[in-house]
Amino acid sequence: MPNTGYNDTPYIPGSPYRVHDGDRPQPRIVTPGAPATGDQPGTPPSDAIVLFDGKNLDGWTKHDGEPAGWKLEDGCMEVAPRSGNIRTRREFGSCQLHLELSEPAEIIGESQGRGNSGIFLMTLYEIQVLDNYNNPTYADGTMGAIYGQCPPLVNACRKPGEWQMYDIIWEAPVFADEKLVTPAYVTVILNGILLHHRRELQGPTKHRETTCYTPHAAEAPLELQDHGDRVRFRNIWYRPLTGYDQV
Ligand code: MG
Repeated sequence: MPNTGYNDTPYIPGSPYRVHDGDRPQPRIVTPGAPATGDQPGTPPSDAIVLFDGKNLDGWTKHDGEPAGWKLEDGCMEVAPRSGNIRTRREFGSCQLHLELSEPAEIIGESQGRGNSGIFLMTLYEIQVLDNYNNPTYADGTMGAIYGQCPPLVNACRKPGEWQMYDIIWEAPVFADEKLVTPAYVTVILNGILLHHRRELQGPTKHRETTCYTPHAAEAPLELQDHGDRVRFRNIWYRPLTGYDQV
């Protein structure tokens, strides 16, 4: 028999389990997906909720519920300029979110006018998507910025036309009795590089103004921005942040 734990060790402070407790529940098994390789998208882990798998846009709508007007091509969705933002039918709160994106290979525009899109968590909180490869703009509007609030730690952009990977840990704000109890926090990794480590948000994204929280539902759709540029997305999934207090 392998030694799978101890029953004579001290209890871990604040925990019902001993150090190396043999009776402590095993972690749930999740089978990892395949990583993205060049032009091949990655695949989701076994317990992910898939928001876009390259086959259709059935899970996405315009803000008024009409069908999403973006282009579906080669297993990707591409912004159809001026067709409007699109959002998931599914609503969710705190999560681990993954998505892959590619900026237009043909360089058009500058500053905020080049490869602009956005990942709007809960439709309100934007993680900026922008082609910042040799394209300066204001720091709190660069790729991976919490738009209008905080620049990323570094510029980790790949060249336009290359696929880039976002991994985001989103902690939704908590409201009670129409008051803020806990603000939102976000951790953002772009192309394997840390941009934000549990950064606190001041409120929903605004343009040219400061912000503060307004109470809203605990779950909301994920929204992607049409800023007029043909940004492409693929392999979008999330995993709810649950069970964190139960291990
Ligand atoms: Mg944007």
